[in-house]
Amino acid sequence: MNLLEKDKRYCWHPFTQHQTERNPVVVTRAKGTCLYTEEGDEILDMISSWWTCTHGHAHPEINKALVNQADTMEHVMFAGFAHPNAANLSEKLASVLPGDLNRVFFSDNGSTAVEVAVKIAYQYWVNKGQENRKKFIAFDGAYHGDTIGAMSVGQGCGFFNIYEDLMFSIEALPYPHTWDNDAEVDLKEKAALSALKNLIEKSGDEIAALIVEPLMQGAGGIRFSRLEFMKQIVSIAQQADILVIFDEVAVGFGRTGDLFACQKIGCTPDLICLSKGLTAGYMPMSVTVATDRIFEAFNSDSFKTAFLHGHSFTANPLACAVALRSLELFEQENTLDHIAHIEKQHKGFLAKLSNHPMVTMPRVMGSIMAFNLPEGGGYKSDLSEKLRDWFLSNGLNIRPIGSTVYLMPPYCITDEQLSRAYDGIIAGLSAVNDMPSNLAVKCA
Ligand SMILES: *Cc1c(COP(=O)(O)O)cnc(C)c1O
Repeated sequence: MNLLEKDKRYCWHPFTQHQTERNPVVVTRAKGTCLYTEEGDEILDMISSWWTCTHGHAHPEINKALVNQADTMEHVMFAGFAHPNAANLSEKLASVLPGDLNRVFFSDNGSTAVEVAVKIAYQYWVNKGQENRKKFIAFDGAYHGDTIGAMSVGQGCGFFNIYEDLMFSIEALPYPHTWDNDAEVDLKEKAALSALKNLIEKSGDEIAALIVEPLMQGAGGIRFSRLEFMKQIVSIAQQADILVIFDEVAVGFGRTGDLFACQKIGCTPDLICLSKGLTAGYMPMSVTVATDRIFEAFNSDSFKTAFLHGHSFTANPLACAVALRSLELFEQENTLDHIAHIEKQHKGFLAKLSNHPMVTMPRVMGSIMAFNLPEGGGYKSDLSEKLRDWFLSNGLNIRPIGSTVYLMPPYCITDEQLSRAYDGIIAGLSAVNDMPSNLAVKCA
């Protein structure tokens, strides 16, 4: 069997209908912004392999850290044991996160980081003797992962309807998605703020926590919100004693232009979830970081108030080594300056593109650029699949989410590579416009 035959016979891919999906692209090597196929074709990874890759693929410094750690110790259990990388990484995270977000709980991916945050928030109130606080508030359109607790708080994204009976119910808030020159943004924000205030008035003392993807809903369609709005949401919730969970699994580690969205906003959530960029796209690991106050509520003479949760690979030393080296690189390579440069390039491109008949809702934040095609489609709309395939066959990994086309490149991307992606977007829009499709007819 050749490789593709083996894959077809034995692998089950994520978010894939195997019966109708075209063959996957076989990638055998990656470097910097580029993926290389079996045949040696170069593909620019313009979405950082699902938003994980930060400094670039196969970064020499991170490779070195990983190899060194593998030679020293690959893993040790984390209950009753400690190791240098976990302690050093936790200290480093505490120093770069705002306020007293000082207590780091390790798990394996974004979904488990959210599960952990939800469970900590829930038990915090039990430990405090306030057992009435059992509900969660989440935003419409939010995505927090694919495990059952994460699906529950993310049910507003609509991906999970089939599992409805398995999920716990939540209180939903409207999300004020906004873009450049959005005339309605004030109204949308007002509606969301008053929905939160009403909810607090009605049943504020039953709410354990509010969870939000700050500044950008990711899988829900790269939907931005404004700093001041986020700041108000956090302040209103915290004033009502509701814990605030920031799911920065997607936006953490520089995507918005600051290392963390909470820094850009200027607030301190009670819990923050980090994954994707945490290990520079190398290893599956995540952290849920809690404030000192949250952690203290789990201390007592009884095992009952302890947080009884853990995973086989909690605080894996290989992943910690890579995460630590990645954080050092942000400082050594002035990565945030480079992200500011990417933002400037994005803005220049979008200014030109915004007159394009197929471009609506243009928006840029940090390394992220997005716009929408004029008419929605589902997650797997016809047009977005055509675009995805056209981009791929033209050397670009750009994978629209429904009608949202976006770029979220690794930070090492060069100006030449950015131009190639921008030219590709314009060419791709024209190419699919010539293809027979309802939307194409409408736009032509
Ligand atoms: C991707 C994502 C998750 C889930 O992370 P996984 O590692 O895929 O489990 C959770 N929250 C947000 C905001 C994400 O973007």
